[in-house]
Amino acid sequence: MKTSQNENNRPTGELVVAPAWLKSAEAKLEGELVQKYGEAQRPRIQRGLKQVSEFWRASDGDQAAFEGFIGGNFAGDQGALDTAFGRFEYLLEQAFGHMAEIGREFRQQTDLDAGPVQPYDKVFAGYDPSAHLTDDFFNNKLAFVVLLNFPLTTLNERLAEGDKWTRRQWAETRLAEYFSKRIPAEVNLAISKATAESGQYISSYNIWMHHLIDDQGRRLFPPKMRLLSHWNLRDEIKADYNDSQNGLAKQRMIEGVMERIVTQTIPASVIDNPQLDWNPYTNDVKPAAEKDSDSAPAGRTATNAPEPNTRYRYLLEDYRASKLADPYSPNAPTLIARRFDEDRQLPEERVRKMFEQVLSSPLVPQVAALIQKRLGRPLESFDIWYNGFRPKMKYTEAELDAIVAKKYPTPKAYEKDIPALLEKLGFSPERAKFAAENIIVDPARGSGHAMGAAMRQAKAHLRTRVEKGGMNYKGFNIAVHEMGHNVEQTFSLNTIDYYSLNGVPNTAFTEALAFVFQGRDLELLGLQSPDAQAEALKTLNDFWATYEICGVSLVDMRVWHWMYEHPQATPEQLRDAVLQISKDVWNQFYAPVFHKKDVVLLGIYSHMIDSFLYLPDYPIGHMIAFQLEEHMKQTGKIGPEFERVARQGRIAPDLWMRGATGSPVGPEALLAAAERALSLVKN
Ligand SMILES: [Zn+2]
Repeated sequence: MKTSQNENNRPTGELVVAPAWLKSAEAKLEGELVQKYGEAQRPRIQRGLKQVSEFWRASDGDQAAFEGFIGGNFAGDQGALDTAFGRFEYLLEQAFGHMAEIGREFRQQTDLDAGPVQPYDKVFAGYDPSAHLTDDFFNNKLAFVVLLNFPLTTLNERLAEGDKWTRRQWAETRLAEYFSKRIPAEVNLAISKATAESGQYISSYNIWMHHLIDDQGRRLFPPKMRLLSHWNLRDEIKADYNDSQNGLAKQRMIEGVMERIVTQTIPASVIDNPQLDWNPYTNDVKPAAEKDSDSAPAGRTATNAPEPNTRYRYLLEDYRASKLADPYSPNAPTLIARRFDEDRQLPEERVRKMFEQVLSSPLVPQVAALIQKRLGRPLESFDIWYNGFRPKMKYTEAELDAIVAKKYPTPKAYEKDIPALLEKLGFSPERAKFAAENIIVDPARGSGHAMGAAMRQAKAHLRTRVEKGGMNYKGFNIAVHEMGHNVEQTFSLNTIDYYSLNGVPNTAFTEALAFVFQGRDLELLGLQSPDAQAEALKTLNDFWATYEICGVSLVDMRVWHWMYEHPQATPEQLRDAVLQISKDVWNQFYAPVFHKKDVVLLGIYSHMIDSFLYLPDYPIGHMIAFQLEEHMKQTGKIGPEFERVARQGRIAPDLWMRGATGSPVGPEALLAAAERALSLVKN
């Protein structure tokens, strides 16, 4: 290790200090290279020198080494540039592709339904052969060859000029992006540590529901019910709409629990503790009068001393760890910029406007009025999770299970049927055969997943769950979704013109394409697909869920800005800020519909604590899914259109979407579908 560390074991800023001789060396080399290759090359020479200098450290070599490297590796004419581009494209495909194959093989025992998992299998599964690739490529200077010759671009440049670029220019940009950051190993370690610790905190944050007591001393929830915050608590609110007896009382009680968690007035002693009874309204804590579990956390007495802002301490640790990477990421120097400019490639400002467009849509009060009518009571705050827009199923789950089990007794039976399934989706026999030949079906240990290849000579894997009696309907529904991923992966890798462009712009796009398949699962079984009324109900359900998650995402975004503006904040100050931000967003976009002010529920999402500004992906995903689905509906024949859009590869999201549907990414398709749905669903 060439880096120095201070006593807090935090990396110092030393690595980013450029060697003193760098500026003069740059000027000298610029003159020499222009003389050698001509004035026309000057902009490329300046750019290459700047990009290399940004990452060059004293440990990479002295001035002589720097000058020797630049002189020896600058591609000064088109022929040399073509050779370098072709070589890196080919060899990086081999590197990434074989790494992915090793990773897949190493995880085989834990991923597949293939007998017991030994302790060493878990170690194999956790090993990432590519973990040090970027470090190695900076150390052996291959990364610098790329930075010297190919352009790093900012999101603004890609958005302003990208539509005029050739495919090759896009590929060169993506090639350079592999090396747009040089984050030291100990910074990555600090980030993984913060990720692991906040994840651990969230994953053990359970509430024992039978031990919640209301003001009449009643227990509303059954024994042994243990719900993880916030997902299980939220899903219980959803399930309680079906309980005409106690549903409302249960929902109100869960809302009370959520408020206690967000405000950190929850007694620390009751978290994941079945040995204490707790009244979330009065905050009284007593030894449990009923026993439904032997689990007993040590040293927890019956006191209502509040959780000491632990929730916000972990969030602050996420921020502090993320901030360590900032100096090593010159093109995206904050976690906020890395999430929006690099991962999503949509400017934050535009994303915020898209969310506000949904939140302040005139459709919101109309859908809210419809929900109120269906519930027969005024809306309460927790109705942001209303999920009652559910179509009646034409077939029972048991009927569907029987049909699927007969058709697919084994994973291989499904694999054999893929060409026929794809032809039903409108792929030509030839394209269906091509896609199917690149997909291997394996028995999954869990519910199923799709694992794409990373080089053209490897194959995509579809992992699906098949029970002893054959596949069931739920498994089939998931398999069709994963097959959508695999077909996208195959076309966007195997038929792409430049390797560096393989894939889609971000995860929302591959999910949207998978949903296009998944939504047609009944058709694929030869059954009648959902009618217009059923589709309208589903649309309203998605619209309401998007309305909810847009607000949650705005809270997440504002909180990260607040942390960057208050780097010295204490957990207590962060708590107060999150509460204020949650209330502000609620008061602006929800209070007019719910007729209640200062609600803090938007701050309950667990992903806000352990996922580093991930939440905005959800509403963006809903919007993109609607755009693609609407487009596919209009084209009728999905197959050829699916292949055409997948082959666009990893260009900018807006360009991709314009190429696919004629419009940039936005909420218009979702809003139009919701408006049509409202005219079909009257009560
Ligand atoms: Zn998926």
